[in-house]
Amino acid sequence: MSDLAKMISDTSNNIINLAESSLKELDSGKKIAFDNTAYHLPLAYALLGKEIKQAGEAKVIIESARKLWNNQPLSNGLSVPYVDGLLNKGLATLFCEELLTAINYTKGKAPSSDWVGFIPDTVLRSLGLQLVDGRIAGIAVILGRPKDSSVAAQIIREFQEKNIVSVLVGDVDGETFADQLKKEKVEMGLDNYIVPLGPDALSSIFAVNFAIRAPLTFGGCTEGQWKKNLEYCQERVPAFVLVLGKLDEVIVTTGMGVLALGFPIITDMDAPQVPKIETTKFDAIVTEKDYKKIVSRCMETRGIKIKVHKINIPVMYGPAFEGERVRKESLYVEFGGKKAIGFEFLKYADMDKVEDGKVELIGPDIDNIKEQSLPLGIVVEVACRNANKDLEPILERQIHRYLNEAQGIMHMGQRDIVWIRISQDGFKKGLRLKHFGIIIHAMIHQEYSAIVDKVQVKIYSKKEDVEKQIKEARVTYAKRDERLSGMTDESVEDFYSCALCQSFAPNHICIITPERLGLCGAYSWLDAKANFQISPSGANQPIQKGKATDVKLGQWKNINDFVYEKSNKTIEKVSMYSLLESPQSSCGCFECIVALVPEANGVLIVHRDYSGDTPLGMKFTTLASSVGGGVQTPGFLGVGKLYLTSKKFISAEGGIKRIVWMPQDLKEFLRSKLEARGKDIGDPDFINKIADETKATTLEQLLDFLKQVKHPALEMPSLI
Ligand code: SF4
Ligand code: ZN
Repeated sequence: MSDLAKMISDTSNNIINLAESSLKELDSGKKIAFDNTAYHLPLAYALLGKEIKQAGEAKVIIESARKLWNNQPLSNGLSVPYVDGLLNKGLATLFCEELLTAINYTKGKAPSSDWVGFIPDTVLRSLGLQLVDGRIAGIAVILGRPKDSSVAAQIIREFQEKNIVSVLVGDVDGETFADQLKKEKVEMGLDNYIVPLGPDALSSIFAVNFAIRAPLTFGGCTEGQWKKNLEYCQERVPAFVLVLGKLDEVIVTTGMGVLALGFPIITDMDAPQVPKIETTKFDAIVTEKDYKKIVSRCMETRGIKIKVHKINIPVMYGPAFEGERVRKESLYVEFGGKKAIGFEFLKYADMDKVEDGKVELIGPDIDNIKEQSLPLGIVVEVACRNANKDLEPILERQIHRYLNEAQGIMHMGQRDIVWIRISQDGFKKGLRLKHFGIIIHAMIHQEYSAIVDKVQVKIYSKKEDVEKQIKEARVTYAKRDERLSGMTDESVEDFYSCALCQSFAPNHICIITPERLGLCGAYSWLDAKANFQISPSGANQPIQKGKATDVKLGQWKNINDFVYEKSNKTIEKVSMYSLLESPQSSCGCFECIVALVPEANGVLIVHRDYSGDTPLGMKFTTLASSVGGGVQTPGFLGVGKLYLTSKKFISAEGGIKRIVWMPQDLKEFLRSKLEARGKDIGDPDFINKIADETKATTLEQLLDFLKQVKHPALEMPSLI
């Protein structure tokens, strides 16, 4: 045995012993678990198929680890016998590290509030969509730190620019990467693509047991299917490990387990170089000492390709900067919002009226401002050879993301309720009003070149001009709303498919109709249509619906045939309007879950941001774990928020009148639409008949409430 192999073997053994003795200190009935997950100890759940809830049940982890350490396959066959058995020892280590951190949680020794620690299921779900649509290209697990904080900032900025989310773990000599970023005034948080997980090396397990939940959440894999779960991670989870400044026994041993999941290790330290092994796509362990090259080396090694937006502006640009806030303390100037008038408007114009790339500032720039709140109007004129009026609002809506992705700009709202901020830092770096136009022009070309020929932008900064221009815009906004509200499933020939999530949920396919948007909430029928025009062989395809085979359920032969084919022959029929009969499958990134409450003869809705209890006795995470992976689950449905107020919302079961409970936040978000729907169904007070967590968190309370308000569901035909 080489020295290295011996060291790994010994360290792994020590960690198993440590886990065993820590476990022995607990009463066997003592609860051990992480919060906000449906997967218990996720690694043990996914690979061993065990639901560990109490200390007594955790013995199996120690036994399994010992077996793996001895290179013996477990009873379910789990064994990854590569690299002289070192990967098995690595896996054994991961199991015990997961157990150790769970025990720490039990003892109240979770990482302090500066750190995220265990990542809740909902974060994974919300990241799903960003991963499939490329806003997140990969995940860097960074262990340790470089010598110099300026190098830390440089590395992180490069990851941000390349759409990589960095999770930070561990320290070197008491200083962490996060400390260095603080010193360099880099804002952290998931919105900024930087997640500090924990200050010690053990915290790397939080990245591992985050990754292993992806096959369970999106991939339709079940607990104990160790091979499928590992292969899913190897093939579909674009993660890698970057080890900086320290390489000790624990890191190396843990690293062996990480390799079993297919995540390569890149380091700035001297380490044995390991070429491709059975579980990795390319090289397994790589040294790169040049910090200027290290980020691209990571990407290469994991095989991550990205789209970088090159735009001629003085600040950085990319999705990682989208969530950046510009707070009052760092504000230089703001437009619109509550204190000033502002709008943005995109319209088609004739070919000869548009000079591509022209950006005109009509009014003063922001160099010598007297006030911090100023008026602003952005008018984008677009010339297209095949102009399709439907797509104007789709293009206009992108302005929000385009401007937000610039470092130093914060954009909220749309149309005549925009609120845009520029930070002091952005101003110092040279951001000026013309850059709004430069960004919009470049990005529309980048993303919509298939349908757009020319783009020019006019920026109005004088109040009287803004007031004048906003009038024209408002007339058009109203016309657009009218058009949209008149659009029904019956009024169109084609529905659209969306297969974007297939990279994570291989059998999942969304069908998007005018009255039912994608379950992620991000794609409406118009979006899908626009995307099809932009890339005719892309994820969104039109399906001519033809004649309905069941009007009530919302089934069409053509749709069924399409779904059967694209779901890899796993789904034969799909009802667009039913919860109980052949409902749509879910991938995992749904905004809300609709769940049957048989006792109430209705359904409850819970959205991702609500972490409290529901009257079904289950939280969102638990409910969510029974839906997903591209499987149909009668009685459960993953949906986008806006589908809830559609006339086609589970209309086969009686529609909106079935809703008996939803969290208060969601009710507020939907208030005006719910009120309008209440009038539609002849029950203007309906919104007040829907219970929320202030009225009921148990079934009993819910039933009492429903009786008291005479909820219509109680009088409806029985659901089961
Ligand atoms: Fe995924 Fe459906 Fe959203 Fe498309 S519409 S991104 S398939 S959830
Ligand atoms: Zn999805």
